[in-house]
Amino acid sequence: MPIAYVALGSNLDNPAQQLQAACDAMATEAGIHIIAGSSVVRSAAVGPGPQPDYLNAVVAIDTSLPAETLLDRLQAMEQARGRERSVRWGPRTLDLDLLLYGDRQICSSRLQVPHPAMAQRHFVLYPLAELCPSDLVLPSGETLAALLSRCPADGLEDSGITLEYHLQH
Ligand code: AMP
Repeated sequence: MPIAYVALGSNLDNPAQQLQAACDAMATEAGIHIIAGSSVVRSAAVGPGPQPDYLNAVVAIDTSLPAETLLDRLQAMEQARGRERSVRWGPRTLDLDLLLYGDRQICSSRLQVPHPAMAQRHFVLYPLAELCPSDLVLPSGETLAALLSRCPADGLEDSGITLEYHLQH
C-alpha cells in the first residue's frame, strides 16, 4: 500500500478541534491507516483581510484507496466540518491537502500530486520533515532537504497542541 502524506489546516471554529476531528475521521475511514502524525504548528494567515492564525499539521497514512478516491474522502471530511469554498484563500474550518501519494506524480483535472504549493509552504514542509527523512526524494527528483533549504521557517511557531492520532501501525 502506498504511503501518502496529508496536510491538515484550520483557522476557524476552534482550529485545534477541527484538526482533531480530521484525525478522528481519517482513523475511522476504511482504507486509511494513520502511521504517524506531526506536531501542530501555528502561523499567520496568508490571504484577504485580517484572519485568525492557522494551525497546521501533517499525517502519514498507509492507504489502499486510489488517489482520487482518497481525495473524495478528504473532501467529504472537509464538507462535514462545514467548509465553504466561497472565498479563495479565505478562512476555513478545515483544509485537507494530499501532499504526496507514494512516489506517484499525478496531474488530472482535479488532483495534482505532489501538491503544487507544498514547496512554498513552511507550515507544510516542516511538519512533513518530522515524519520522513530529509533525504526523501520527491517525484521531481529533488530532496525534501532541498525544499526546506529554500523555505525559511520564519513566522512558524510550535503551537504546543498535541493531537490524538490513533496510530494504527
Ligand atoms: P483548496 O481550496 O485549496 O482546498 O483547493 C481545493 C481544490 O484543489 C479542489 O478542487 C481539488 O480538486 C484541487 N486539488 C488539486 N490537487 C489537490 C491536492 N493534491 N490535494 C487537495 N486538493 C487538490
